Amino acid sequence: MSESARTAADALRALLAEFPHTPRALVQSFGCQLNFCDGEKYKGILCSLGYTLTDEPEKADVILFNACAVRAHAESRVIGRLGALKPLKERNPRLVIGLCGCMAEEDEVRALLRKSYPHVSLVLGAGAMEQLPQALLSAYQGQKHTETGLRFAGLPDESLPTVRDGVFQASVPVMYGCNNFCTYCIVPYVRGRERSRTPEAIEREVRELVQSGCREILLLGQNVNSYGRGTDCKISFPALLRRLDAIDGDYFIRFMSSHPKDADRELIDTMLSSRHIEHHLHLPVQSGSDAVLKAMNRHYTAQKYLELIDYARSKSEDFAFSSDLIVGFPTETDADFQQTLDLIRYVGYDNLYTFIYSPRSGTPAAEMEQVSTEAEISERMRILLETQRGITARCNQKFIGRETVMLAEKYDEEKGLLVGRTRACRNVAVTGDASAVGQFVRVRITGAKSWALTGETV
Ligand code: SF4
Repeated sequence: MSESARTAADALRALLAEFPHTPRALVQSFGCQLNFCDGEKYKGILCSLGYTLTDEPEKADVILFNACAVRAHAESRVIGRLGALKPLKERNPRLVIGLCGCMAEEDEVRALLRKSYPHVSLVLGAGAMEQLPQALLSAYQGQKHTETGLRFAGLPDESLPTVRDGVFQASVPVMYGCNNFCTYCIVPYVRGRERSRTPEAIEREVRELVQSGCREILLLGQNVNSYGRGTDCKISFPALLRRLDAIDGDYFIRFMSSHPKDADRELIDTMLSSRHIEHHLHLPVQSGSDAVLKAMNRHYTAQKYLELIDYARSKSEDFAFSSDLIVGFPTETDADFQQTLDLIRYVGYDNLYTFIYSPRSGTPAAEMEQVSTEAEISERMRILLETQRGITARCNQKFIGRETVMLAEKYDEEKGLLVGRTRACRNVAVTGDASAVGQFVRVRITGAKSWALTGETV
């Protein structure tokens, strides 16, 4: 932490010590896992300053919305929720309401807050977490509106404390930002260029998590496959995975997201020869049409994508793939969509996350002319979902009769089912009891539904 951040933190602690009660903070995160991971750091900073955490806005002295810019619709909802906090501020003038995360990096959002949301007094840039004490101090000292740390393209200070949301599952960011400029995506504009944490810092964090009993560690980055590029550490993502895999313990490692232009055979080999890395790759294809992929600026073809799938399957039949897919990209025609259907049938994804394209202002795709009607796009989505349901059900059938290990994630009391995921990230629901949550459990698969494998504990 910088000297100025330390000084601000000390001054803020002294100010908070004069509160008639222990000050309370509410941090609400929206959007992707990386944003939730940042939210854990905001909570850590606030606790280190003397706040306790609360879920109740009425009881909070600070309300921080850590919001994501990726989807315009989600962003409108956050603006609506910020608006709904106005009566709280009127009742409690000392309440500080702030916006942080990549949504705070948008010029239009900040202009809107300045003009129409004067009760939101603090705006903090996505990469400027350590400047939170300074921003809070300014707000308490009567500054009506502060905008701090915008366009900050550094790495968060490694010494920042964290309050983790999960007990046996944890996320560890390995890099921030993105250099890819997919034409539909706002991330490079609001999160800045790629920068990677050092392998030493990542290894230290993972080691501590394993030692504290964490069972699943999710490594995060906008494009983990370009980890280490352009830095002094000269280490590739597969090399980082091997380094982390060498840590002794009982745990799984997952990671996301991978970009198909950068994922390679070395990555697959590393995963399959590891002790802890899941045998599942989330590889967002977005479309099966080369013309659409080009318009999206994705820098791979369907053929190149499938070569990696074929390679993984040649090494392990059970290796699992999931993907993100956009339906109704502005240039997508029915013929393009047919190529997407062909691709998903060929791959046989275990899981598919499908999205109807929605324009994001500030991106090149938002300026493209839409060639399909809403009805055509809805119909494509319907066909896609139906096709994928059949694929997942068929993929799941082959596991009936097998035994495997799953990490039990939760217990469904109503159904008496223990719900979790296998090392290949396949969903499983088995008869069992709540005491196994957070543990690895050996299970026998006796049934296959489109949403999960079912069975019993062994
Ligand atoms: S790889 Fe593309 S979709 Fe992913 S964050 Fe970067 S620009 Fe956005």
